[in-house]
Amino acid sequence: MVAEFNVYCAICCCPLGGSCEVGSTNPWHLKLRRARVARRTYSRRTGSLYYETDEEEEDEKEERLSKMPWLRETAEADVDEDTASVNSDDYDHSYDPDVISPEDLSWLNTVFALGIAHRKPGPRTYMLCDCYYDDRNRVYIHDTDPDDSDEQSRYFAYGVSDLTDPPVFPVHWECIVLLSRAIGISSVASIQKNVLYDVMLDLADFSCLNLSYGDITGPDQDWQCIPGEEYSVVCPTLEFDMGHQIIVDFEAGLFESQKPLELGNKVIKDPFTNMPYDVIYLILQYLPGDSIMALNRASWAILTLTRSNSFWKNRLAGDMVWLWELQQYFESPESSRVRNYKSLYLWLDKKTQPLYGLTGTFMGIANRRRIWGPCTELAERYHRKLHGSLQ
Ligand SMILES: [Zn+2]
Repeated sequence: MVAEFNVYCAICCCPLGGSCEVGSTNPWHLKLRRARVARRTYSRRTGSLYYETDEEEEDEKEERLSKMPWLRETAEADVDEDTASVNSDDYDHSYDPDVISPEDLSWLNTVFALGIAHRKPGPRTYMLCDCYYDDRNRVYIHDTDPDDSDEQSRYFAYGVSDLTDPPVFPVHWECIVLLSRAIGISSVASIQKNVLYDVMLDLADFSCLNLSYGDITGPDQDWQCIPGEEYSVVCPTLEFDMGHQIIVDFEAGLFESQKPLELGNKVIKDPFTNMPYDVIYLILQYLPGDSIMALNRASWAILTLTRSNSFWKNRLAGDMVWLWELQQYFESPESSRVRNYKSLYLWLDKKTQPLYGLTGTFMGIANRRRIWGPCTELAERYHRKLHGSLQ
């Protein structure tokens, strides 16, 4: 049985090779694409369905632009033009050429397959081989004997093969590198292939694994190049110059901080005041950064306890393990220029959010943060299975 669907990387759920299209640079197409992305950005952030954007009344548009004034320029494309005369394929099914280039997509072509070498006599041999993704769910292994027939080098991906022909799981090379970091090992070669294979087999779905891959809508029967989701196909392991970004972006956006107000004697009732520090600290360990900020606004005691740089430095290390450039930066002498770790945390947390409409320097890091979710799930299952506790 051959699936009529394309299949995707088991780790990031993105296409295996050249299914992405960078759109035309025609100025009119650019305007239409960006106007649509602007409307969808607003819809998503206000909780609406992102694709319900075609019917926008003039007063709704004004409200949107008043809340997102930086998108006013893109609204030009909404007026006085006959958009019906333009083929939507020209602007709505391709990526913005100013946001991503064809070279940025080349990492998607390096695909490996994790599987069991079939038709080999003797005990099962697990493989992680360079492969070529053909179409639908067909994968051809490169390191087979050149004299082998097509059938001998051909494998089927995911859960549609019959039992005599075990499925393989295709992954981008960069994604398996990321997964090895999440597992906590130094190289892909150290991954125990049989363990990871069994983990993926447990999670196998029709065209990817049964994991949460974040808020992306590209994976469908065929890959959809959704304008505004360009970040989801940027290489997650691209080199990132943290020191440079801290100077040109973080520090440039800092204003001279005022001495914190001392309002402790004005607090009438704060249930956290009498709670032991150890207990509060334990609670805070389970809260994400934005929840701590919300608690800061509600409780003077929490605000006081979380003022120190050491608190936020620990949170940066614990919450952003996927940002290894930050840990390297902390080990360098130049990190002494950072005076306020709470501001650094808030800045990084905001910049690296994998959100629809994201553009710019942080796209690769945001994609890494997105993919770290499935990597963490796979790594936890890997360790449990390795130690025999996952049946
Ligand atoms: Zn991938």
